[in-house]
Amino acid sequence: MKAAGAKSGSRARGELKRFFTRLAGASSSLLLLDYDGTLAPFQEDPALASPYAGVTDRLRAIRGAGRVRVVVITGRAMDSILPLLGAEPFPEIWASHGRERRLPGGEVEYISPSTRQLRGIEEARQLAASAGLPGWMEEKPFSLAYHVRPAPPSERQDVLSAVGRLWRGVAEQASLERLPFDCGLELRPLGWTKGDAMRALLQEAPPDAPAAYLGDDETDEDAFRAIEGRGLSVLVRKAWRPTAARAWLRPPAELLRFLDRWRQAAGSGRIPSAGAAGPRGR
Ligand SMILES: [Mg+2]
Repeated sequence: MKAAGAKSGSRARGELKRFFTRLAGASSSLLLLDYDGTLAPFQEDPALASPYAGVTDRLRAIRGAGRVRVVVITGRAMDSILPLLGAEPFPEIWASHGRERRLPGGEVEYISPSTRQLRGIEEARQLAASAGLPGWMEEKPFSLAYHVRPAPPSERQDVLSAVGRLWRGVAEQASLERLPFDCGLELRPLGWTKGDAMRALLQEAPPDAPAAYLGDDETDEDAFRAIEGRGLSVLVRKAWRPTAARAWLRPPAELLRFLDRWRQAAGSGRIPSAGAAGPRGR
């Protein structure tokens, strides 16, 4: 599918201004956020990928301003994201692309894959574990992620290709899909994407509630497409790439400015100006 492409320069600034104007007058809103690469810079050890300085405080302030449902939607497993989000109260978290949902009160709900899919994932784990390839494997409740960041950059693509070939058969048999992410390959059950998570969240919200989704990665493209026509899609990434998102922010400065504008619009009804750190063009 052809990407719509992030709007450049003044068009994106106009789109953001209109969005925040609506937000200032809205009685409820949805702020939906990917984690890795969006709220936090990548680290060789994902367990050390803390949010950019200032992000946690701003999210807390936005939630404190009220009238907004803040949801972090991540491919990570729940137990790997919680330690990175600071202290309670956590925002609502949809982990494993939305298959594990932690509500603001702390209750957790699951959308489990089929037994056949879970067996396939276990078989794939054993295949990769015995292959002796460089990199490491992250075992999530409902998926596997093979990380090649520890390998020399010149070897990463070869390792990813080898893992992809290793998992091809089991993916076809067990209704799993192989999905590249930044420096890795994930094997996950078909049938639930961030796009499905987005549709579920939007369905629960009043139809006129302003909604925005911020993400950086290939898995976020499903969510960008799902929110099209209903809310704002924002690519958060230092370097632009083809995308279905409507706007592009370079982290951390433009991301922090975006969150400040959200807090101001949601909290006071005052419409903040774009300031120095507006959205970028290509
Ligand atoms: Mg990401």
